[in-house]
Amino acid sequence: MIIEPKVRGFICTTAHPDGCMENVKKQIEYTKNKGKKDGSKKVLIIGSSTGYGLAARIAVTYGEGASTLGVMFEKEATERKTASAGWYNTVAFEEFARKDGYYAKSINGDAFSKEVKDKVIKTIKEDLGKVDMVIYSLAAPKRKTEDGTIYNSTLKTTEEVFTNKSLDLRNNTVVEATIPMANEKEIEDTIKVMGGEDWKQWIESLVEADVIERDAITIAYSYIGPELTYPVYYNGTIGMAKKDLYNTSLDITREFKDRGIKAYISVNKAIVTQASSAIPIVPLYMSILYKVMKEKNIHEGAIEQMNRLFRKKLSNDVIVVDKKNRIRLDDYEMREDVQEQVMEYWNKINSQNINDFADVDGYWNDFYNMFGFKFDNVDYTKDIKLV
Ligand code: NAD
Repeated sequence: MIIEPKVRGFICTTAHPDGCMENVKKQIEYTKNKGKKDGSKKVLIIGSSTGYGLAARIAVTYGEGASTLGVMFEKEATERKTASAGWYNTVAFEEFARKDGYYAKSINGDAFSKEVKDKVIKTIKEDLGKVDMVIYSLAAPKRKTEDGTIYNSTLKTTEEVFTNKSLDLRNNTVVEATIPMANEKEIEDTIKVMGGEDWKQWIESLVEADVIERDAITIAYSYIGPELTYPVYYNGTIGMAKKDLYNTSLDITREFKDRGIKAYISVNKAIVTQASSAIPIVPLYMSILYKVMKEKNIHEGAIEQMNRLFRKKLSNDVIVVDKKNRIRLDDYEMREDVQEQVMEYWNKINSQNINDFADVDGYWNDFYNMFGFKFDNVDYTKDIKLV
């Protein structure tokens, strides 16, 4: 089958195995070029197949020689449908890692379930003994709890209906988008899915099974962003979940003080991922941000961010945090000169001048790359056998 991108709004329903391999390879090469520290870290990554989790997996493997166990929720190919990008990424990563002599295994299933937690514990016991780092990088639309209840996360405001400019992803025009207000249940359900409860359950399960080292570090990812996106992000339903995630980091550190386990939130930069493309208003902000940060030569994608995290902000001897104990990888994004320029472009932008003020091509390039498309050195005319 010749695999072509099938884009529906903010999602692409096909993925290209060779292109996904290229995507992983490029991230490995970037990391290798930065050099490798000696180490024997054993890292569990929950949400390891795309975006920040995949980049973290690559950064710790090729930057520090880590053994990694990944957890993801991805789809295998069928006779008529390609696998999901995260599936192809994981196959490619494991192949590269094993060839290069690194331990890499992955468990495909629902990270919220007890079944997957048990599988992970069994695998750690058999293969690694204990892990010394747990990266929690889930971005999930819903969560099923043990009693069978399903909670859905929503992307709404919590204060008042919010209207602002937005990028219409179907035709690259600037339109107005209105974000409705969430009710109490929607807020609570989003916290249930994207907040810290499951992260804490993971750490509790690992401690109980004695498969996490004393003094282990666990990190989860968050976002703050500029005031411009506060109604939809920081003060929106997702922001409420992120506040809960932050409070959970304090809880975990407190609860496991006697074991020296420390939990951190890393506040990352806005980048194009499957999760972030789905947030209204954010894609327009991101394309403007890309333009500004590229002009200033400080643009970063997931792999640059994750390398900076493990090389500069969270290494064995030094952990750089702000006053609230958070790691700030959004430091370049939030720089005053960057945000001033973004606001200037935001106020000027419209459908006619969009390319003067936003890097829409860069946005789409990252978007297609995520699904393994638009790499120059991949032969997209090749007939691919799906299964
Ligand atoms: P992503 O969509 O690329 O990755 C999500 C990962 O979670 C995938 O590996 C997926 O397989 C996995 N997953 C989803 N549901 C699962 C389930 N039920 N069980 C097991 N695995 C599951 O998203 P991302 O943007 O890399 O987000 C990762 C984290 O980083 C999130 O907490 C997000 O809020 C945060 N973050 C993202 C940005 C951004 O701009 N993208 C910025 C700052 C922080």
